[in-house]
Amino acid sequence: MQQPRAVVIGAGVGGLTAAAALHRRGWSVTVLERAARLEPVGAGISLAPNAQRALDAIDLGDDVRALAAWQGGGGLRTPGGRWLSRMDSATAAERFGGPLVLLHRATLVDLLVSRLPEGVVRTGTAARLADPGAAGRPARVATEDGEHEADLVIGADGIDSAVRRTLFPDHPGPRYAGFTTWRAVIPAPDRPFEPHETWGRGRIWGTQPLKDGRVYAYAAAVAPPGGRAPDDERSELLRLYGDWHRPVPDVLAAVTPRDVLRHDIRYMAEALPAYHRGRVALLGDAAHAMAPTMGQGGNQAIEDAVVLAHQLAPGIGLAPGTADPSAALAAYTRDRLPRTMDVVRRSARTARMITLTGVPAVVLRDAAIAAVGRLAPGLALRSFDGIADWRPPAPTYPAGARRTS
Ligand SMILES: Cc1cc2nc3c(=O)[nH]c(=O)nc-3n(C[C@H](O)[C@H](O)[C@H](O)COP(=O)(O)OP(=O)(O)OC[C@H]3O[C@@H](n4cnc5c(N)ncnc54)[C@H](O)[C@@H]3O)c2cc1C
Repeated sequence: MQQPRAVVIGAGVGGLTAAAALHRRGWSVTVLERAARLEPVGAGISLAPNAQRALDAIDLGDDVRALAAWQGGGGLRTPGGRWLSRMDSATAAERFGGPLVLLHRATLVDLLVSRLPEGVVRTGTAARLADPGAAGRPARVATEDGEHEADLVIGADGIDSAVRRTLFPDHPGPRYAGFTTWRAVIPAPDRPFEPHETWGRGRIWGTQPLKDGRVYAYAAAVAPPGGRAPDDERSELLRLYGDWHRPVPDVLAAVTPRDVLRHDIRYMAEALPAYHRGRVALLGDAAHAMAPTMGQGGNQAIEDAVVLAHQLAPGIGLAPGTADPSAALAAYTRDRLPRTMDVVRRSARTARMITLTGVPAVVLRDAAIAAVGRLAPGLALRSFDGIADWRPPAPTYPAGARRTS
């Protein structure tokens, strides 16, 4: 049998993981990325043990675990600085089988690209699904430079996925979640600080250290969609958070307007009928964009990629001697759709908690968090049960056991 061929549209976290995982399974892979360079947004990304275990499948889990910086305490505070609950990262690591790792997106992209042969990723190449293919017919992808035929196409083209719209034109797509976000990566402030997330009325702020000494700061606030600061986004942050507890003012002092990214949050409230059609699979935000309130969007994209490659292994979902992915893609949808939509819904529930604006509701919420933190500290971690403890389908690449081939 000829080597099966896959074309991946989109070189984000999901597309690159899928390419690396398929490459390891013996597929010939081409990744088409419309951006001129692989330059992810200047922000952090948290990877929980579920994604780290998925990354073991491409021999990357330990490289990510080595970047864990958040080994100590930290926790949840009020804007005045009162601690509502303390985070015990050792307990969390024990419960879920590893630490929560926060790394710069560029670091993750570099690691993923290091698992691919030279020339696999073609930047500056916008791609369009020309034909999703069928059992007896390859799929086709069109670019300015010509067409690619493939046994499999992966639509990893993000929240505004054109591949999704081609496959499922009646789906309403993502909807606004009611809040906007800001992110910045900056040098660490001079004065030491404890990692924290702080919940106010319809606003949150987080300050977390990266292993390389820098700091990842993020904020979210209830706002109409499409808003922009009349002057610049740093000034907007100063207006909204300038009087919050330390280290927030220290971080704001170190931020320049150029460092600040602002994004409205949208998510897929309605599930797609399937994550595949013909010879095309959707993954990551293209399939199930979610609010970032549990830090799982990228984690789920990584899980998708590894499960898809597992299903596409000869002898598992690919009938021996063929490159027809139909059975594998159906199994992929069965596996991933219920799980990812559960995470979408749980992330939306958490979003409702952080976007409360009424005083009585916020007082009640904070009192409940403080009581749980005092009386049953382990309870807060339960919101990640069934998510962070996930394991990939085949324990073929256990953590620490590096493949040499
Ligand atoms: C504020 C915020 C904080 C977040 N924090 C976290 C976190 O801590 N942890 C976490 O796991 N997730 C987090 N997420 C979610 C995470 O960023 C996404 O879920 C993840 O990036 C999705 O990856 P993806 O590969 O599916 O899509 P993307 O990263 O969006 O990649 C899609 C790629 O496809 C390319 N593309 C699009 N159209 C075409 C085309 N026609 N041809 C070729 N290429 C194309 C795009 O240029 C892009 O490179 C956060 C999101 C936000 C907004």
